Amino acid sequence: MSAPQAPVQRADFDQVMVPNYAPAAFIPVRGAGSRVWDQSGRELIDFAGGIAVNVLGHAHPALVGALTEQANKLWHVSNVFTNEPALRLAHKLVDATFAERAFFCNSGAEANEAAFKLARRVAHDRFGPEKHEIIATVNSFHGRTLFTVSVGGQPKYSDGFGPKITGISHVPYNDLEALKAQISDKTCAVVIEPIQGESGVVPADLVYLKGARELCDKHNALLIFDEVQTGVGRTGELFAYMHYGVTPDILSSAKSLGGGFPIGAMLTTEDLAKHLAVGTHGTTYGGNPLACAVANAVLDVVNTPEVLAGVKAKHARFKARLEQIGQQYGLFTQVRGVGLLIGCVLSEAWKGKAKDVFNAAEKEGLMVLQAGPDVVRFAPSLVVEDADIDEGLDRFERAAAKLTQA
Ligand SMILES: *Cc1c(COP(=O)(O)O)cnc(C)c1O
Repeated sequence: MSAPQAPVQRADFDQVMVPNYAPAAFIPVRGAGSRVWDQSGRELIDFAGGIAVNVLGHAHPALVGALTEQANKLWHVSNVFTNEPALRLAHKLVDATFAERAFFCNSGAEANEAAFKLARRVAHDRFGPEKHEIIATVNSFHGRTLFTVSVGGQPKYSDGFGPKITGISHVPYNDLEALKAQISDKTCAVVIEPIQGESGVVPADLVYLKGARELCDKHNALLIFDEVQTGVGRTGELFAYMHYGVTPDILSSAKSLGGGFPIGAMLTTEDLAKHLAVGTHGTTYGGNPLACAVANAVLDVVNTPEVLAGVKAKHARFKARLEQIGQQYGLFTQVRGVGLLIGCVLSEAWKGKAKDVFNAAEKEGLMVLQAGPDVVRFAPSLVVEDADIDEGLDRFERAAAKLTQA
């Protein structure tokens, strides 16, 4: 039994936390499926999914089971030893994807950090130090470490922290000609989000990804797909590269992979993986038994025809209703995205006001997300019940009605 806990409230945040976040006014305390309850007992429907993380909603029995079973066995041994859940998880990912090798870590930023370091190491070993340039896209997001903000195409996240990592350039997304003009034999990697998540849910065009693949092959550069947001069933395929039929050399995964337990993975081929020889890279917690046991359970549930087909059906359900709401209230001009990563592009009159929509939805008992100031984003559980979708969208419509009346 744990000792009684001192009461805390939202105001404590400003007293004891570093002020780099601006959390909502209420504090969630419990979740079940796609519903969440706050301190006062108020119930909300969760279409935010912890930013595309809670892939099976809250307290899914398979995940609770895997977590508690492993919690009673073995939490952590470090990478001085390997462990059974990590090996099982690696087997599962290798069997299910292009990859032949997995590296585990604890977040999306770390998965990308490993991906970028691997790409530079491969080029260094094979071609020499000149070949180190990374091409990324404008408005991309790859995490918050110094390397990943430097690669990310949003100066607001990388400015003001001293010298950036050099040898990185940014080209407009979905612009094959711009990539063609920038790529050279000094390029070691091109990194692309198959759907730009944070900056507005912008799906890549198929010709763009195909063209990027060809340009990389021509210049001996590696193609890295950042699937931290798009991976693990989110698009209705296990990974978005399968949706497009364009295979990367390196893929980063996190968010949905742990269903709420922190874990990241970098997947690649045997031929590339061998460049991260013993001692070249590492992490104390990466691939710990607890995280890997949960991720194994996530994959067992998500990577099934029923769940993946369900994502496509639920996409259609969301899209039809969101288009109707958007039109009726003049709120959106477009509903875009793939699977259960959906972005509603605000109309001219509502541009810059995604936060207002977020607040209005919260007042009606609904959690949604922004993706920049102009897009309202939905990233719910992949197994959200149809009844919860309908009820959540009823709440969203009430929010839209009140917002546009005011
Ligand atoms: C969220 C995200 C990241 C960063 O993941 P963290 O776990 O926050 O480090 C990287 N890339 C993309 C595409 C993301 O959506």
